[in-house]
Amino acid sequence: MTKDPIEISSEACVGCGQCIPACPFDAIDMPESIAKIDLTKCTLCGACVPTCAFDAINMEEKPVADPSTLGQYNDIWVMVEQHGGTIEPVTYELLGEGRKLADQRGMKLCAILVGHQIEALSQDLISHGADIIYVADHPELEAFRDEPYTKVLIRLIETYKPEVVLLAATAAGRSVGSRAAVKINTGLTADCTALDMDPETGNLLQTRPAFGGNIMAVIECPAHRPQMASVRPNVMTPAEADSTRQGEVIPITPQPEDLQSRTKRLQFVPEAGSAVNITEANILISGGRGIQKPDNFSIIQELADTVKAGVAASRAAVDANWIAYSHQVGQTGKTVCPKLYIACGISGQIQHLAGMASAETIVAINKDPDAPIFDIATYGIVGDVLEIVPALTTECRKLLNRS
Ligand SMILES: Cc1cc2nc3c(=O)[nH]c(=O)nc-3n(C[C@H](O)[C@H](O)[C@H](O)COP(=O)(O)OP(=O)(O)OC[C@H]3O[C@@H](n4cnc5c(N)ncnc54)[C@H](O)[C@@H]3O)c2cc1C
Repeated sequence: MTKDPIEISSEACVGCGQCIPACPFDAIDMPESIAKIDLTKCTLCGACVPTCAFDAINMEEKPVADPSTLGQYNDIWVMVEQHGGTIEPVTYELLGEGRKLADQRGMKLCAILVGHQIEALSQDLISHGADIIYVADHPELEAFRDEPYTKVLIRLIETYKPEVVLLAATAAGRSVGSRAAVKINTGLTADCTALDMDPETGNLLQTRPAFGGNIMAVIECPAHRPQMASVRPNVMTPAEADSTRQGEVIPITPQPEDLQSRTKRLQFVPEAGSAVNITEANILISGGRGIQKPDNFSIIQELADTVKAGVAASRAAVDANWIAYSHQVGQTGKTVCPKLYIACGISGQIQHLAGMASAETIVAINKDPDAPIFDIATYGIVGDVLEIVPALTTECRKLLNRS
């Protein structure tokens, strides 16, 4: 029988209950006077282990890397996100951040480009800050598939030993990053909102929201390399292009076993009803619970049509089934960075702000003058959203000469 990664010794446990409040995830219970750990909730954080005076909690120790080997790791890597030969904007954001870290460490910034017939993209990556491009080009890598992309990345990491690997917190990046981190036994911090470097130790300081967005945690990975982090689109500033930059392109021949996969792509079907990708819109009109009923999204849509904007929403509106999840902005939705974000009947809870606080101009419409959204709004309108939004639409139509 396989051993659980954390176990309670029924001989040693006296049922004192000391471990229960120590668990931040509410994963310990005390049925029949013996502690029991719910492995579906436990994150193996280890907080309970030292609270047990009877050494009854046994947690499997992960092998720690030999500290003398950490110095073998060099350079900052960015996993390029490209689809069909088009580089996704988040890649430029990772390059901007990666360049800063590489300069702090006096290291090279390298980009990992995986796909088919994509080598021509290398110059663009170089002009956006990369010094070296490792290109894995093969017909089997044309469409993204988790297994081959992960295996190619792992082999590159094992060969060249980077100090840091940055990925996009997208469906592809999240899948590849977590798979690779487990295989090479290192840590990965998902959804970072800020990255910095400890110059003494070379430890990456990875900031991300924790505990439902109520605190910002700075996470380090001191005993393992590479240090891996994912960053959501629209959080970091993109690298500026400099066409005079020079760099080196290193072609990689993928190993046949790395190209094998249990999945194959049959076809690509874009999600129905998401004509506007809210992460790319310049203007977003966003509706929350304050619009009161699903039919009232029509006034949001009318304003959006008038000013050629996308429609976004808070989680409350999505959870109420007023609008599809693809429109949700926030910690568990999308991160957006439009030039203008108009929040209509949205209170401004921290989880919503996590997805839109970096918008250039924020206009908030809310009937409650104390709503937290006004703390970050550039302009605030106190009043009934059901009156103000149609009035705005009428004025915009006049100004833009649209009937
Ligand atoms: C782990 C976790 C993750 C989460 N992720 C997200 C996320 O990704 N995105 C997200 O949005 N939320 C998220 N939430 C939920 C978040 O905490 C809030 O519950 C949610 O953002 C509230 O949505 P809301 O502002 O539309 O609704 P409410 O908080 O109910 O606010 C409605 C607002 O409308 C105003 N209002 C009411 N009637 C009118 C009117 N006629 N005219 C003008 N104003 C009016 C009210 O004054 C109020 O301020 C998450 C929560 C958790 C715990």
